[in-house]
Parts: sequence; structure tokens; C-alpha cells
Amino acid sequence: MKKILWVLLFCLATAATVWAGKADIEVFAQSKGVSFHWYPVQKTFTLVSKNDTAKFAIGLPYASYQGKTIELSSAPTLNAGRIQIDSADTAKFFEPLKSTSSSSEKVAALSSSSAKNMEPPAKKATSVAAKNETAGTREVKTIVIDPGHGGKDSGALGAKAQEKDIVLAVSKLLKKELEKEGFNVKMTRDKDVFIELGQRANLANQWDGDLFISLHCNAIDATPEKKKQVKGYHVYVLRAPESEEDKAIARRENKVATLYGEKNAKEELTPIEWFKLEARLEKYKQNSYMFTEEMLKALDGGKIRRQAGGVGGAGFMVLVGALMPAVLYEIGFISNPEDEAYMMSDAGQKDIAERVSKAVTNYKAAVHNYRETLGR
Ligand SMILES: [Zn+2]
Repeated sequence: MKKILWVLLFCLATAATVWAGKADIEVFAQSKGVSFHWYPVQKTFTLVSKNDTAKFAIGLPYASYQGKTIELSSAPTLNAGRIQIDSADTAKFFEPLKSTSSSSEKVAALSSSSAKNMEPPAKKATSVAAKNETAGTREVKTIVIDPGHGGKDSGALGAKAQEKDIVLAVSKLLKKELEKEGFNVKMTRDKDVFIELGQRANLANQWDGDLFISLHCNAIDATPEKKKQVKGYHVYVLRAPESEEDKAIARRENKVATLYGEKNAKEELTPIEWFKLEARLEKYKQNSYMFTEEMLKALDGGKIRRQAGGVGGAGFMVLVGALMPAVLYEIGFISNPEDEAYMMSDAGQKDIAERVSKAVTNYKAAVHNYRETLGR
């Protein structure tokens, strides 16, 4: 009897909260037939159906759902062990109730049919963003090369060379190599000019690129002894950094934006920004890693070796806006005499360009094979 009373009370309380414009998330999940998962450390939670996952965070008025960031009327709250979201927001997920699985199946069937017949609703916007929605899942044709820095921004300085000159020289050679392979190649700059970080990704999106490669040289500020020791290449993807070293490299590469007063300039991404990015990153993550794998394979055996595993992730502003698989490639340490000399030499630049071109060619083949297995 007592138990029934409690259940009744609970139901009343739930009804009352819905009345008040708030919905209890677990009750909502039950009503939609989706499972609820709570991650206490990050204070995030997910609602998972057979086909979709919606991700939320306490205190953030955004959710990620179906590869998009959804703006919420208000941030989810946590009170006395219960999570609530605004009732107005419930309609944005897992609707309509009865055809959740069938409509998702329709979407799945559509995407496996001819790409020509595909007209995703986003295309109505006729924006660059909509065009790029298919980057990563279609054949690889357009490569955007982004030589870092330029103009008033010299990038890192070696004993003899400037980062902006090395990356431009390598980029030009890479363009030639890729064109030989039949790729359509675009460069964010082909001379010594200054281009804002945010503008680089915009250009790549306008060109509807399939892959974005930003070229840089690494550097450390240390004693000559230490500079002699630290060398090697590193390939970075946009991902929450796991080490202080990776964070520091992103800060150094992002500094130019704050230095020259770029709009929305910052050296580090906030947790909210990471969260907002998550849905989009998810979309291109697999391909960014596929390309990174090919980079490691092609670069191994070269004069410049991997530095500390060769792969890392951090919040590089130049990669943030790119609606396509994207990596930032630190060719070597300009602060290291050996790496610097090699990156300055004609033979070195040519070898680096050939290796990166090989990586792109192999990546194109990997994407093609993947599409074949999916019957596209
Ligand atoms: Zn740089």
C-alpha cells in the first residue's frame, strides 16, 4: 500500500513538473522508448535509440543530435538527483514517437541509394555548409592546402629560416605532386600574404574541399641543448587535448589570431565550444583519422621521424571551421638545427611533399574502397 502511494506521489510530482514547463528526462526517455545514460564526471547525459543519440550537458543550452547542434530553450538542470529539460525542447528529439524507427530506416535507405537522388533538407539553405555535408563520404577530389602563417605573421623562427617560408615552399611542391595525381588542388595562400585563421577554413568550405591540410613547423623555446634533442613531425586532428604539450602547441599556433585582433580570436577552446563542436567533429573524425594513418605510413622512413607517437589532438582554431576531414601537420621542429636544415633544403622539401602526396593518394583509395564496401 505504501509503495502505491509513493508511485502515485511520484506521478503527481512528475505531472507537476511537466505542468511547470519542465520535463523529467528519465520519464521523457521512457515515453520515447529510448535509453538514458548519465555520466557523472562530465555531468553529461545521452538518450539513445536504435538509430540516434542525443547528447546533453547540465548547464549548457545545447544538445548534439543527428550530427547537428540543437539549441535548447534553456539548459538542462540537475536538482536532487533528477534531471530536467524544458518541455518545449522535448519535441526536438525522437519525434514522431510512433515512426521513430521507420523514419530512420527511410533515411538509411535513402543514403544507400544513388547519391544523385539525395536531397537532404539542409540543401535548401544552398549555403556552402550544406554543400560540404557530403565531404568525407564521397570520392576524394578537391584538396585544400593551407600553408600556415604568412605576411606580417612569420610563424616560428629558426636559426635561419621562418616557418611561413618553409610551409609555403613545401605546399607549392605538394600542389604540383597532387595535380600530377589528378587532384583538384586549392591553396589558402600561394604567396607571402597574411590570412586570418578563420578565413582559411571559410575558403576551404567555399571550394567544397574533401580534405584540408594545414602545414606548419613546430618549435620549442628552450636551451640550445634541449633544442638539439626535440625534433620530429607530428600530425594533429581537432580533438580535446590530452596533454599539456599538445595544448601548448595549439596555443602557439592560435596566438596569431589574438595577436592581430581577429574576430572571435582565442588561444583555447572552452568546454562549451568543444561541446558545440562535437556533433560536427563526429562527422569527419573517422576520415581525419584515416588520413592521419596514411600520413604516418607515408612519413615513416623519411628523414624526419615521428615525435612522441606522431599523432595528437588539440583545439587548433584553423581547423575549427572546416566542414571536411582536416589535419594540421607539423613538418618538423624549426628550433632543431637538423630538422631546420632538412626543411630548408630542396631535396628535403621535395621528399616531404612526395610523402604527403602519397598519403593523400592512399587516403583517396581507402575512401574509395570504403564506399565500395557500402555499395555506394
Ligand atoms: Zn604554425
